[in-house]
Amino acid sequence: MNVKELLSDTNNGHRLSNEEAVILLSQKGNDIYPVLDAADKSRFEKAGDIVTFVKNQNIHITNICKNLCGFCGFGRSAGDDGSFCDDQITLIKKTKLAKEREVSEICLLSGVHPDFTISHYVEMLATVHSVFPGVHIHAFSPDEVAHASDKDEISTKEVLFRMKKAGLGSLQGTAAEILVDSVRKIICPNKISTEKWVKIIKEAHSLEIPTTATIMYGSIEGPKERVEHLSVLRDIQEATNGFTELVPLTYIHENTPLFRSGIANPGATGREDLLLHAVSRLYLDNFKNIQVSWGKLGVKLAQMALLAGANDFAGTMWSDDVSVNAGAEGADYLAPTLMKRIAEDIGRQLKERDTLYNLI
Ligand code: SF4
Repeated sequence: MNVKELLSDTNNGHRLSNEEAVILLSQKGNDIYPVLDAADKSRFEKAGDIVTFVKNQNIHITNICKNLCGFCGFGRSAGDDGSFCDDQITLIKKTKLAKEREVSEICLLSGVHPDFTISHYVEMLATVHSVFPGVHIHAFSPDEVAHASDKDEISTKEVLFRMKKAGLGSLQGTAAEILVDSVRKIICPNKISTEKWVKIIKEAHSLEIPTTATIMYGSIEGPKERVEHLSVLRDIQEATNGFTELVPLTYIHENTPLFRSGIANPGATGREDLLLHAVSRLYLDNFKNIQVSWGKLGVKLAQMALLAGANDFAGTMWSDDVSVNAGAEGADYLAPTLMKRIAEDIGRQLKERDTLYNLI
């Protein structure tokens, strides 16, 4: 296959097949640069020359989790050292702090607590809104939706409906990891199947609850499974147009059982990170936004990913115990002034956005 021709065709509207995307993801040495360059051109066509970011605050309510995924350094069993579950007063305190920081989005990011029911999720949403009316709440994963549905014996659509009614602004497209069941059986055997994840995401979109899309790559899967995952996302987007962006999440391996037991790789390489962002941009022709996760990639590699197809610099975060506990350094807070420097250093302008990509 002539990769140069393929990239030129793709820039001119050709939709990449899975086989072609696998070839692009497998480029080595200097051959990666034409792929990054084509992705950068596509980024300009789709998202222009600005780098966006959102002022947001992560709030972790609990790290107690029924799933205990092998790739995760955050989840704990109840009673384990370091396990916590905040009460309502602590949630109020954390929300007040977010309000003082004038964020536009609060992101509730927690473990899937085995005791939580729909009432817990609804109460969390109500508490945040009572303290900080009008803030956009980006919360919960399809796995938490499935969990509440099981606990309360109501449909997943009903769970989503009640969450929306209680003030959920958008659902997290997390718990996706790699949407290939043979991979999920090894890295997250207790999580919902690919089929269920797709069903819940489509239900959310049908209720006009937008979601992000994520991919957690670099553990045990290879290019073929990464593309299979992207194809699931592209098909959903084709049907619903409900994804706001793709958030590539590189695997942070250090403190995770899967790596320590020798099953997983020590994360993706820099080449793989850049190609994943680039090929996602080229393959997901129905997505406008590709985000860089600076907390996981590190700020310098994240800047390079902005030159390889990405257009969004994610959020200020203020805390990301999920990445920090897994071994990422400096994953808690990035000031907009530093983001501005990063963007301007590559000739782009930094603009603040809200969760749904309206410029502020
Ligand atoms: S990745 Fe999420 S669901 Fe899995 S153990 Fe960690 S917190 Fe729990």
